Amino acid sequence: MRVAKKREVPFFDYPVLFERQKKEIMACLEDVLGRGAYILQKDLEEFEDNLKSYLGVKYAYGVADGTNALILALRAAGIGPGDEVILPSHTYIATAASVHYAGGTPVLAECGPDHMLDAGDIEHRITEKTRALMPVQLNGRTCDMDAIMGIADRHGLIVIEDAAQALGSQFDGQYAGTFGKAGTFSFYPAKLLGCFGDGGAVVTNDDDMGRRLFLLRDHGRDENGEVVTWGTNCRLDNMQAAILHLKFKTFDQEVQRRREIAGMYHAALSDIEDLTLPPGPETEGDHIDVYQNYELEAGQRDALREFLQDRGIRTIIQWAGKAVHQFKNLGFDHVSLPVTDRFFERCFMLPMHTALSDEDVEYICSTIQEFYLSADFTD
Ligand SMILES: *Cc1c(COP(=O)(O)O)cnc(C)c1O
Repeated sequence: MRVAKKREVPFFDYPVLFERQKKEIMACLEDVLGRGAYILQKDLEEFEDNLKSYLGVKYAYGVADGTNALILALRAAGIGPGDEVILPSHTYIATAASVHYAGGTPVLAECGPDHMLDAGDIEHRITEKTRALMPVQLNGRTCDMDAIMGIADRHGLIVIEDAAQALGSQFDGQYAGTFGKAGTFSFYPAKLLGCFGDGGAVVTNDDDMGRRLFLLRDHGRDENGEVVTWGTNCRLDNMQAAILHLKFKTFDQEVQRRREIAGMYHAALSDIEDLTLPPGPETEGDHIDVYQNYELEAGQRDALREFLQDRGIRTIIQWAGKAVHQFKNLGFDHVSLPVTDRFFERCFMLPMHTALSDEDVEYICSTIQEFYLSADFTD
C-alpha cells in the first residue's frame, strides 16, 4: 500500500481553533471589557437561557467548573456524611472527588462494553447507605438511561448525571444531563463546548433543586442580597459566559463535524480485528453520540501508539492511564474491578476535534492500517 507522507497531528489544537474565530472572539471580549461586565451579568444570563432552551430544562446555572457543578449538585440533593454514591471507576477523578467533598463515600463500579457505567454491575453494590447513582456520560455518549433510571426507581435512589463530556448527546430522544435529579457540564477548553479557562454548568427540572443551586452558587444570597442559607462562591465568570454564548451559536456544526470524523474512523478501521471501536455515528437507534472523544481498544495498543507517535500522530490514554480505583492513595485498595482493569490495558484515544482536516483523519487511518499490515503478531 501507499505510505502517506508524514504530518504532525497533535491530540488537540487550541491555537487553530482560536485563529478560526479570532475576530468574533476579540470583538466579544472588547464588548464585555468595555462594559465592565464581569460577575453575574447579562452575558451569563443569556448563555444560561440558551442552555435551558437547548436542553429543554427549567433551570441552568453557570458555575466555576465541572467539578464544582458536581459538588453543588450533590450538596443540593442532600448528599452528605454516611451516604454512598455509586459511580463508574472509568471516569475523571472529579466524579469521585465530588462525592468525597460533599461528605459522602464514592462506591466504584465496572464499565460495560460501551465504556460507561455497567447497569448490570450496580445492584449488588447497593447497601442501606446507598443514596445516589452517578452515571457518567462519557466520550459524548449517553448511558442506557432506561436501565439506570429503572434501578434508581426500584431502590429509591437519586440520579446525578456527570455529563461533563456529553453536551448535546442523546438517549431515546432526550439529552444527557436531563434524566436525573440534576446534570452537570464542563466547559474546560478541550470539552465539546470549551471556554478559555474553567467553566461549568448544572441543570435541573426540579424546583427545589433549582432554588438550592441558585443560592449555593452565590454565597447563599437571594435576589435581594439576603443570605438565606450557607453558600459558596461558585460563579461562572461573565467573560467566559460571553465566549460560551458566542461559541454556542455554531455548536451544532461542531458536533456535526465530530460525527463526520467518527464516521471516517469507523469506515476505515472497523475491519481491523485487533481493534474494538466505539459505535459509529449512524448505527445506534437509541443513541445520538457527539464524540467528545474517540476512545477505542486495541490488543496491540502500546506498539500501535508508539508506531503512531513515530509518525507524528499523538494519542492519549484517558485520565493519564488510570481508573479511579487504580490510584494508590485514595483508599480503594480492596476494590476489585477486573473488567475495568482489563479495559485500561487496551484503551486509548485518537485525536477528535474540529481542527482536524479530512487529510489528517485519512493520514491517521492509513497509518493505523499500515501498522496492522506490517506488524508481525505472534500472540
Ligand atoms: C472534565 C470532566 C469533569 C470536570 O470538569 P472540570 O470543568 O475540569 O472541573 C468531570 N467529569 C468528567 C467525566 C470530565 O470529563
